Amino acid sequence: FRHGEASEVVVPTPNGDVYFGERHPIVVVAGPCSVENEAMIVETAKRVKAAGAQFLRGGAYKPRTSPYAFQGYGESALDLLAAAREATGLGIVTELMDAADLSAVAKIADIIQIGARNMHNFSLLKKVGAQDKPVLLKRGMSATIDEWLMAAEYILASGNPNVILCERGIRTFDGKYARNTLDLSVLPVLRSLTHLPIMIDPSHGTGRSEYVPSMAMAAIAAGTDSLMIEVHPNPAKALSDGPQSLTPDKFDRLVQDMSVLGKVV
Ligand code: PEP
Ligand code: MN
Repeated sequence: FRHGEASEVVVPTPNGDVYFGERHPIVVVAGPCSVENEAMIVETAKRVKAAGAQFLRGGAYKPRTSPYAFQGYGESALDLLAAAREATGLGIVTELMDAADLSAVAKIADIIQIGARNMHNFSLLKKVGAQDKPVLLKRGMSATIDEWLMAAEYILASGNPNVILCERGIRTFDGKYARNTLDLSVLPVLRSLTHLPIMIDPSHGTGRSEYVPSMAMAAIAAGTDSLMIEVHPNPAKALSDGPQSLTPDKFDRLVQDMSVLGKVV
């Protein structure tokens, strides 16, 4: 069980240092599932920043279930994230899938995301543990809390103390109405077990944009430190995860509603 104070993860961004942790306002990471082109990523970045987000998310390397599905634009998408960072000053969160891309991703990312499918990839965890950028560690879709915490331990034990745990929904027996079961019970459970900051991702957690606002609000009520919300300027045309993406207008409304419950910005 946990001993001592909550730790904080401090992430320098062009707009200033952002603090993740129990003692700080809720940090919001928002943006599209995938980086599709310069106009969409820069436009989305401006909109989510105006709404109150501190970080832009966007995938360059996408871990798709099907090898025939869109795999992300790779290194060229990293350049577009750098352009969006430059245009807005937002920090960048993007996923690393392959250790071979670590230096390219670390060059532009302010936080490196390890996706649910790689939570058990111990050699990748050791590599992100042996570099300085903070790591967002998503829970594997069938990972127990102990397995998830041990995955975090791999990063910590390799020398990187800056780990944020992200719940993104676990496999469900009833995928008819929601893609996953968002396990909000991790909030009190993790609080009792770990000092690490916690993020909730209701977008992957539900798979449906219409369910995202209520789950984001519930996560705040249950004490989350941060949220990840997928936002796309035209969800119907998104190359990945359109059905779970909010429009910038809906995201803006959600952040306003969230700030009634907790300190968001
Ligand atoms: C994502 O964040 O777009 C993603 C692929 O998430 P996860 O690893 O949780 O499925
Ligand atoms: Mn996605």
